[in-house]
Amino acid sequence: MAWKRLFRTLMCSFCALIFVLNSRGPQRAAAESPAAAPPSPAPSAERFSAAWRRLAESRPDLDISSWEYALYSYGHPVRQEPAETVRVDGTPVDARIAPALRDMIEGARAQGLNVYLASGYTDAAAQNHIYRRAVDRYGEFGAQSVVGRPNESEHRSGLCIDIMDGYYEEKDESLASTELFIWLKMHCSEYGFVLRYPEGKKAITGYVFEPWHFRYVGVEAAEFMTDNGLTLEEFRALYPLAEG
Ligand SMILES: [Zn+2]
Repeated sequence: MAWKRLFRTLMCSFCALIFVLNSRGPQRAAAESPAAAPPSPAPSAERFSAAWRRLAESRPDLDISSWEYALYSYGHPVRQEPAETVRVDGTPVDARIAPALRDMIEGARAQGLNVYLASGYTDAAAQNHIYRRAVDRYGEFGAQSVVGRPNESEHRSGLCIDIMDGYYEEKDESLASTELFIWLKMHCSEYGFVLRYPEGKKAITGYVFEPWHFRYVGVEAAEFMTDNGLTLEEFRALYPLAEG
């Protein structure tokens, strides 16, 4: 039987040699042929930086250190309570955003939409409770892309609002298909709000898509961010001295 083992060994070595030669062939041909097709086009660093430069040159002329553009996120805690909160539809928010919020929900209701303000300003104890509940449900790591850690949630600032269709009880992605969300997405910038955690931006914002969470940034910034598909993080990066 020894000759059979020898035969199999020789055949395996032969097959391996053929495989290696075949697999190297196309690469060698591509490398040696002057007419070889270039790799598929990818955004070059030059094109990316040119686009970024154009955006930076067209950015609104505003004071990025003003309260409307403050960043509250991981590593950017809310350090003080809002100076004044007022209730809109029974939900507390920073008093400075209340007029714009009232106008926006009136605009939505004028279209026959069912607006429910689910959450605005949240105090430290309430935010801590919400976060611990999310940790119980998703674990420490999973919770952080759904709920802000205490003091790092934008809700601690009072500058954002969770808006839901009144017929929906759960904050989940199904809200994105409601007429209310579609209207808000189209019109919120006219009132100075942006969709804070859009789809596909988790790597930048740290949060999953939240089709209910809107943040006030003022009309000028909101329209620029919406027109250019920018998150608050990206918008602030257009102003090199942004701190906070
Ligand atoms: Zn929210």
